[in-house]
Amino acid sequence: MIPFVSQLPRIEQALWLEALNQVLANETIVLADDIPQEQRHLCKLAIVANPEISTLKQFKNLHWLHSVWAGVEKLMESLPTSPINVVRLVDPMLSQTMAEAVLAWSLYLHRDMPTYAKQQRKKQWQQQAYVPASERRIGILGLGELGCASAEQLSNVGFQVLGWSRTAKTLAGVSTYSGIYGLANMVSQSDILVCLLPLTPATKDLVNKEFLYKMPKGSSLINFARGAIIHSHDLLQALDDKQLSHAVLDVFEQEPLSSNSELWQHPNITVLPHISAPTNMATACQIVAKNIIEYRATGQLPECVDKVRGY
Ligand code: NAP
Repeated sequence: MIPFVSQLPRIEQALWLEALNQVLANETIVLADDIPQEQRHLCKLAIVANPEISTLKQFKNLHWLHSVWAGVEKLMESLPTSPINVVRLVDPMLSQTMAEAVLAWSLYLHRDMPTYAKQQRKKQWQQQAYVPASERRIGILGLGELGCASAEQLSNVGFQVLGWSRTAKTLAGVSTYSGIYGLANMVSQSDILVCLLPLTPATKDLVNKEFLYKMPKGSSLINFARGAIIHSHDLLQALDDKQLSHAVLDVFEQEPLSSNSELWQHPNITVLPHISAPTNMATACQIVAKNIIEYRATGQLPECVDKVRGY
């Protein structure tokens, strides 16, 4: 028996159960609450979607869990010393969805849509200078599954693409940087900066005042990763100083974003409700099934999140 542990609404949990049981015909996947207390110690594996940690802890003999989300920051934060191995979703469909979002919102900034929307409200007929894509530099923080797919998409459209990662990388059509000096170098050349880093102790508040004032004056920021990577107060100050011209934010420290947040009202911020790359249930279930079937056949765990690195 494999528990499905999630805080999603019951109706969505039922859809996941149906889809998972369809692709894993030799397993029985059930809602965590439906497994009797006296049987929970028998479960070695769980499938999770934003699980309640207290529920997860009731399954005392879990060896590993498979998340159906790509981001597992909350799990890693809540299980720092736990021996449970965490497998996150790595799905090419999700990477393409994110790459599409990065392209869409990069074009939104590149073609001055926030400015034209403001001008329309004032009935102002004013043409902004056109900048060809080949002269626009877009920097990507994080060259993992999502960052690489996004870099390729932007490069295909003709943008100058730069990318930063922890370890050095070579990517066709992308100027790559790594380490702290590499970061300063890339940031100072990015007209649009896209954040696709995991949230770890090393990336929390990475995008702070010092960082934002290294960016070219009037540049823009897109955050599709995790809210806490950006220091909100410093971001607001950089926007008010016209150091930054616009920020597109899809992720926040507290979600849903509180109605009291200043971010909602700011004229130079676009707030999105965490929609840049939703999991596709059909492809995610295929990937989870493949990993579990292989594990049953070989005893080998799929690639797990590195607890020391935090991602
Ligand atoms: P990933 O494959 O693990 O890639 C992470 C990238 O970040 C790697 O290139 C890694 O460098 C780099 N990195 C990590 N820590 C770093 C540091 N301290 N300094 C420099 N580079 C660092 O992750 P992913 O699948 O691309 O996902 C990234 C994040 O996107 C997730 O963690 C999640 O928070 C977010 N996400 C958001 C949504 C949404 O809808 N908004 C959806 C899915 C995921 P190396 O290559 O050197 O290891």
